[in-house]
Amino acid sequence: MIPYGRQEISDADVEAVLTVLRSDFLTQGPSVPAFEKSVATACSAAHAVAVNSATSALHIACMALDLGPGDWLWTVPNTFVASANVGLYCGADVSFVDVDPQTYMMCPDALAEKLEIAEKAGTLPKVLIPVHFAGQSAAMDRIGALAQQYGIRVIEDASHAIGASYLGAPVGNCAFSDITVFSFHPVKIVTTAEGGVATTQDAELARKMELFRSHGVTRDPASMTGEPLDGPWAYEQVTLGYNYRMTELQAALGVTQMTRLEEFVERRNILARRYETLLAQVPVTLPFQSRDSYSALHLYPIQVANRAEVFERLRAAGIGVNVHYIPVHTQPFWRARGFDWGDYPVAENYYKNAISIPLYFGLSFDEQDQVVASLLEAIDV
Ligand SMILES: *Cc1c(COP(=O)(O)O)cnc(C)c1O
Repeated sequence: MIPYGRQEISDADVEAVLTVLRSDFLTQGPSVPAFEKSVATACSAAHAVAVNSATSALHIACMALDLGPGDWLWTVPNTFVASANVGLYCGADVSFVDVDPQTYMMCPDALAEKLEIAEKAGTLPKVLIPVHFAGQSAAMDRIGALAQQYGIRVIEDASHAIGASYLGAPVGNCAFSDITVFSFHPVKIVTTAEGGVATTQDAELARKMELFRSHGVTRDPASMTGEPLDGPWAYEQVTLGYNYRMTELQAALGVTQMTRLEEFVERRNILARRYETLLAQVPVTLPFQSRDSYSALHLYPIQVANRAEVFERLRAAGIGVNVHYIPVHTQPFWRARGFDWGDYPVAENYYKNAISIPLYFGLSFDEQDQVVASLLEAIDV
């Protein structure tokens, strides 16, 4: 089976993890700060906070922005469920903004329209989470401008987009947002097995997220209440946090993985350009490439007629295709909360014909040719 995505692990990665296993610290040692530094540097961000998943990173990002009961979080339906779930973790209400038919990402026009209505109704969101679908940045210039106009905080869900850039600057520099979140799940660009990072330019937001990831407990006098301490051993719990820490094993893997970030993204771009050539005459719709963006190309989602049949034929031919995404609002859990088919027609239309074909660092040209040949057979041209 040629999978739709796969991690790339080098001998250096293996050695790095073994070295940590033989060291004094399996958690809370030097590797986590080193990994955070490598991500912050790659993103031109002042701060990076590493946690055990992107979902945790999204959660503490929402908490740092004070999202809570009575507030609204808006995201897109064309995403993994985590982008929406984190709003509920905070006790907030969640709604969605439909996507653009070309980019499959948050549509700035739909956002502007929904904001106008929400302003009149007094239901403006506190937090907006656009998603950089498939590794390309959403239209952050317009989204950021609207957020500023209405006084809304922005978290970029860049789970797909480490190594991408937008308007000539790296995704994660938070030029149009408060916080950017990356995932290091094995299917993403760079992996720590499980892991996430939140980047920000704001020292106060970083400090809050560091508290929330570890029980709300601190040993840093700057984060303490100022009450007299019992002694040099003292730590204080100053808020309610979680145990969302990343281990040293994961962080060490992340450090060696990050040294190959450019190589990883370049290879994905080479394979994508090759798909464009190989599929140029084939009746499928290829992913849109914005001129504002250098995509990290986490996914290669195409549009095909008879998706169900094509999917089954490709799977039978040993091609591990997948579908990204079933619109979040159509999941049973969200329908039970009042959403339904028809609510976000653009995301639903995209979903009907969507299929992600294999794209990952280790995909050989031969394997890619095999994917294309199987696709041609499956769509019967
Ligand atoms: C993978 C993913 C997440 C969750 O990442 P985890 O690290 O698995 O928690 C969130 N949002 C999007 C868009 C994703 O693709």
